[in-house]
Amino acid sequence: MYKQLSYIEEYDKVKKNKIVIFCSIIAAITIIIVVITGLLTYQLIMNFKANSTEVSGAKTIGVDQNNVTQTIDNTNSNEQPEERLAQAVLPEIEDTTSKNQTNNFPKHDFSIAMQSQLPQYSEEIAQKVVNVYYEKAKKVYLTFDDGPSKRTPEVLDILDRYGIKATFFVLGKNVANYPEITKRAYDSGHFIASHGYTHTYSQIYSSPQTVLDEYNQSVAAIQSAIGVPEYNPHLFRFPGGSAGGRYSSIKKEAIQLLKDNQITHTNWNCLTGDSAGNNTIEAMWNEVLSTAAGDDNLVILMHDAGDKEVTVQFLPQLIEYFQGQGYEFSNYYEIMTQ
Ligand SMILES: [Zn+2]
Repeated sequence: MYKQLSYIEEYDKVKKNKIVIFCSIIAAITIIIVVITGLLTYQLIMNFKANSTEVSGAKTIGVDQNNVTQTIDNTNSNEQPEERLAQAVLPEIEDTTSKNQTNNFPKHDFSIAMQSQLPQYSEEIAQKVVNVYYEKAKKVYLTFDDGPSKRTPEVLDILDRYGIKATFFVLGKNVANYPEITKRAYDSGHFIASHGYTHTYSQIYSSPQTVLDEYNQSVAAIQSAIGVPEYNPHLFRFPGGSAGGRYSSIKKEAIQLLKDNQITHTNWNCLTGDSAGNNTIEAMWNEVLSTAAGDDNLVILMHDAGDKEVTVQFLPQLIEYFQGQGYEFSNYYEIMTQ
């Protein structure tokens, strides 16, 4: 009896062991299948990702995919594919779009903004310059001729203090001597226009062409000083005014030649007399009040030459007076950028 029982127990034990071994084998196979499936899936995903990146990259930039691949091969292979693509295509995008200015890169947005602020020329703008004296807007245009000079920074300080933008009709030869002051005036929002290069009447008025030549020379000096190669004010003020005097017939022909070259010109309708012997504040007041009478818009002629210290002393009084009379201050930039 005991022997028979023992045999049955032995039989059960062997049966149990067989079941455990079978279950273990099944579990091991399952684990192996799961691991292999996982590895295959991972590889498939990675392959798909790599292919889709290459295709979308080529479509976005619109260039030959071979070019992209070639450029990528020259870059650091440790970087991610997307980063390498970005580096590779940026120069392509810049080259293509710099011609038509239609991209969204900040560098070119800035360039477009700069261009939209540059002075423009059109028949309409030229007409507005001519009509600047006749508008009933109660505006004062402060204009300074013959600079820049060592005196100009004092003028700029005063204008800054009152938050006023003026117009500077500069001489090319002085711009060449004081490029930093010219740049400061430009960067502060003042309008930089041309008053020729030499201011020597016998030179600039030797022919209509020499007027245009001096305009171009002065603009080249301005471009270099302010660091804007495409800058052109399209605005000229004739030394001594655009009419009358010994050179009146040359001035008349020069006006047409300038117009043919998209350059308009302006004079003034209010004077301080600071270049005609007025060297006291009282004399300047008399001149301003007598010449301003009857006009709503005032283009006031002043000079920021080196010897005009009385003009600098007079300037704050002049500004405060017209502010008190309800005038607005403007400059030609407002007209030339419309
Ligand atoms: Zn002058």
